[in-house]
Amino acid sequence: MNNPDNSEELEEISSKDFSLSLFKKYLDKENFHLTYERKILFDEISNFNGPFCVEDLIEKCSPDGIYISRGTIYKTVKLMEDSGVIQRIPKHGKKRFFVLLNQGTNKGHLICLLCGKMETIDIGENLNIEGLKNSKADFDIISTTFIINGICSDCG
Ligand SMILES: [Zn+2]
Repeated sequence: MNNPDNSEELEEISSKDFSLSLFKKYLDKENFHLTYERKILFDEISNFNGPFCVEDLIEKCSPDGIYISRGTIYKTVKLMEDSGVIQRIPKHGKKRFFVLLNQGTNKGHLICLLCGKMETIDIGENLNIEGLKNSKADFDIISTTFIINGICSDCG
């Protein structure tokens, strides 16, 4: 982590601010506005520390006395997905799960193919960002997301 050229720069551009600017740009392009509700949802989503589904978001929004309709929540999640700020991950079962763009950096999401249990691990130093950069020098890497399929200890 003593290499300011890479790790810090990557951390800086993959921050919440970066995601917010990406989201705003997309909304502008599609003639939508960053409404009060959308900003609250963006903030809530930014705090997830791993895969989340819409139900998790609904649960998070209600105890604070904030009322945001399910329709707005679904629509905002869809807009965030379309903007690339969140990405859908393959998952066992019917629920749709998402991960944040800015959490994708050096993170791996383990998914059990039998029960669907998910776990997020820090890939950290094992990821050769330099190697990735060298193999595609004309592409500015912001974030990486690894979906790692396998069998969990409960099922194995
Ligand atoms: Zn399992």
